[in-house]
Formats: sequence, structure tokens, C-alpha cells
Amino acid sequence: MYPWNFRTISRSDPEYESARRAAVWNGRVPDRYPELIAFPETDEDVQNLVRYAKEKKLSIGTKSGGHSWTASFLRDSGILVNLEKMNDISVNVKDCTATVQPAAYGSDLNVVLHQHDLMFPGGHCSTVGLGGYLLQGGFGWNSRKWGVACESVLAIDVVTANGTLIHANATDNKEYYWAARGSGCGYFGLITRFYVKVYSLPRGIMTSRYVFEVKDLDQAIAAMDAASNQVSPDLELVLFIGRDQDGIEGRPTFAIVGDALSETDAEALTALSLLHDLPIMKKAVKSRPFVSCTLPEVLKRYDNILDNRGLRYETNNMWTDVPTTQLLPNIHEIIKSLPPAPSHLYIVWWLPTRGRPDMAFSMEGRLFMSLYAISNDPSMDERNARFVVSSFQKLDNCRKGIQLADENLPGHPGKFMQTSNYRRLEALRRKHDPEGRFWGYMRVPPEFDEALHVL
Ligand SMILES: Cc1cc2nc3c(=O)[nH]c(=O)nc-3n(C[C@H](O)[C@H](O)[C@H](O)COP(=O)(O)OP(=O)(O)OC[C@H]3O[C@@H](n4cnc5c(N)ncnc54)[C@H](O)[C@@H]3O)c2cc1C
Repeated sequence: MYPWNFRTISRSDPEYESARRAAVWNGRVPDRYPELIAFPETDEDVQNLVRYAKEKKLSIGTKSGGHSWTASFLRDSGILVNLEKMNDISVNVKDCTATVQPAAYGSDLNVVLHQHDLMFPGGHCSTVGLGGYLLQGGFGWNSRKWGVACESVLAIDVVTANGTLIHANATDNKEYYWAARGSGCGYFGLITRFYVKVYSLPRGIMTSRYVFEVKDLDQAIAAMDAASNQVSPDLELVLFIGRDQDGIEGRPTFAIVGDALSETDAEALTALSLLHDLPIMKKAVKSRPFVSCTLPEVLKRYDNILDNRGLRYETNNMWTDVPTTQLLPNIHEIIKSLPPAPSHLYIVWWLPTRGRPDMAFSMEGRLFMSLYAISNDPSMDERNARFVVSSFQKLDNCRKGIQLADENLPGHPGKFMQTSNYRRLEALRRKHDPEGRFWGYMRVPPEFDEALHVL
């Protein structure tokens, strides 16, 4: 018997395997088996769990939305803390702030905010959990303008490795606050609540989409690169390469998409004209420029492409500062071996618009690329895993670092923050979680291992 009333499932329970699988969004569930799966409902439940883990010397993996592609919360032995019951949202309209529990989805928050003409830079798919998303940085809607989502985190409630509940912000318990903004799947506490800043709802939301044959890719990428120094902060520019797009069956094509979340329609029109006026756009085989949309439509945009819970995903990503044209030979190689839809290569002209505050998050670049090999056939797993890793290993000399969002730390670890920040984070972990109560990163790149020699 456990010293609490909330639901727990141990390895010998008949429902163990279904609960273990249900925790993972990815259809490819890794063969990792915690001893216990717990479903706390309150802060006090979480404190009891952490104290119990301390007493029994068990490590803890925390799952909020369960969207980590590698299921970083699912480890062998220890406790899997499934926060699915902790998903409350409350909004303070007057202060433009909201309080959210970690298992709430970004879209849940935006649905509530929409009623008050407010918005938060939540993830591009509607079911991304806020817990993992905010911890790793958070590249969401209008994040080029409003900043990575963790910049909007004003404070957190955290249960520490001792089982104490603390409030942390820029002045109190600031080491916990610093680390919570960017350490992602390597945080040394369990966050039960985020206090975030929210924004006025953009009034001019507009999108343009152009689809091309692959033969025009080099010209399109060169044109996008040339225009990239004029992209306004409220415009997000994406290139999406995959099969079966816009009714073009079988062969790969690419789509260039611009999303403007501007103050007015006129501003959105101006932002998107940059794209529309590029001569290459005349070569599009399909185009839908300047389509006005509502926030709920935008929030659903990527769901049918990306949000396929239960399909088997292999992913890899990279930040780069090199001119995109330099990546083209490898991009063409990727296209040749791209598995069937909905597998795809996704390129974002992230083009950081300003400096960031001092926080663990400290890795970004001009361009972000992520590769998804997706299947419902388990016999494709090994092939797809090799494909996403080897495709980006060939680009190692162009890779500046990686995001902790689509990370593949086990298969192809990369720098996910500045080395000095990693050293600082690990020093804080030794101070605040000396017994390793919370699982750290599954794997880090060699330069991070080396950086710890000086600690
Ligand atoms: C369909 C899809 C679309 C996505 N789109 C985007 C996007 O647009 N932008 C973007 O930035 N990312 C995106 N991602 C990546 C996503 O943000 C990360 O996978 C993120 O970790 C998901 O949050 P989560 O709460 O579901 O994480 P989980 O999988 O629940 O957790 C990930 C890790 O975070 C840590 N963690 C989670 N909750 C807590 C907590 N409360 N306290 C302490 N540690 C915790 C744990 O180490 C855990 O292993 C997407 C992922 C998917 C599957």
C-alpha cells in the first residue's frame, strides 16, 4: 500500500502496459519500463510522491502532454509521474496573465484566451502539452514576435528533489527559474504550475500557400534566402517538403507557407507581399495567397500533417546559420529517400529578431530544419531511424545545434544550449538534486561531457 489516495499502477498490475503505452504520444513506444506509474492530482500528491521516491531511492520521469518524440519521461525503473489530471487553466484578463498546469495543451489555453481577445504563443499543433513545451523553449504561433514561449513564463511552482513546494521567479529561487526556461527534458524539479504573460489577439491573421515541383526548389530557396532580411517579426516563413500535398499524389513537392499574425489586415498584407512578389512564386503549381483566417483555424493548421497520435515517428532536427543554398545537395538527397506521406522535411526561416534574457535557453539559429519519418508499419522503424539520423549526420559541419523540441538525443545528440549554460545547469543540478531524483538528459554531445570536467 502506498501512502496516498491517487491512482498508481505497478508493473505487476494488468493495466500496466496499456497505461505505459497511453503515456506516449508517439506510436513507437520505447522498451523502457518504470516500476510505477502514478497519477497525482494536486501539488500535495506530487510532494508525497517525490518524498516517497527519495525514501525508496527511486528516480522520477515526468510526463505532461506526453509529446516528447523519444518519450524522454519513460525510463527503466523508478516512477513515471503522469500529470494528466493536472491541466487547470485560469486567466487574469486585467493583468494579461494566465496560470496553467503542465498537462494543459497550448490550444486549450488559447481557446480560453480567445474569449478575451488574448493569445499565447502555444505550439503549432493543438495537442502539445504546455509542460514540456515551456520547459524546452517553445517555438509557437507568433514566437518570432513574442519570443520563445519560455520568455513569457513569469514564475513557476516547483516540487524540489526534497519534496518541498516552492515558488520561483526572477527574484525568488531564481536558479530554479533560470533552469526552467530552456532545460527541457533535463530539468531538476517537477513543475506543477506556470504563471505566464499573454498577449493581445492579433487582428490581422492571414496566410499564403504556394506549392511547387521539386525542380524549382533551388531557385525558391535562393529567393527566400535573399528576401529573408526583410521578413517582419509577425511573419513566419516555412518550407514543407513531402509527398501527397494539395492533391498531388505520389511524388514529392514543396510548399512555401507564410503566416502573418499582425495587428491589422493591412499589416498582414504587407508582410505577405514580400513572399508574393518574389518572381519564383509565378512558378507555383498551386497557390492560395492572402487568405484571412481566424485564430481557431490557425491553431488547427498543422494537426492533420503532424498531430497523428499513434503513428510511428522518427525525428531529428538542427539549427544552422549557413546560407540555405549550401544545404541543397543534402536536401535533394533527403527528398530522394523520403518515406511516404506524412513523412516530411520542415524548414523554418526562424531569423531571430532580438536578444534573449539570461535563461537556460540559449541555442537558436537563422534557419531550423526538422525531418520526420512517419509510418504505421513497425518493420519500417529501423530504416526510418537510420534515415533521420544519417541524413542530418551528413550535415554536421553545417549544424550549429539542436532544439529540445524535436530532439533525437539518443540517436544524434547535439548542442541544445550554449556550453557555458550547460555547465551552469549541471552545477545547479548537483546543488539542487544531488541524488539524481529526476532523470537528466538521455545523452549529450561530447563537447558537453568535456565541459563537465571543469566542474
Ligand atoms: C505533434 C507535435 C507537434 C509539435 N509542435 C511543436 C511546436 O510547434 N513548437 C515546439 O516548440 N515544439 C513542438 N513539439 C515538440 C514539443 O513541444 C515537445 O515534445 C514538448 O516536450 C511537448 O510537451 P509535453 O508536455 O507534451 O512534453 P512531455 O512529453 O510530457 O515531456 C517532455 C519532457 O519534459 C519534461 N517535463 C514535462 N513536464 C514536466 C514538468 N511538469 N516538470 C518537470 N519536467 C517536465 C520531462 O523531462 C519530459 O520527459 C511538437 C510535438 C509534437 C508531438
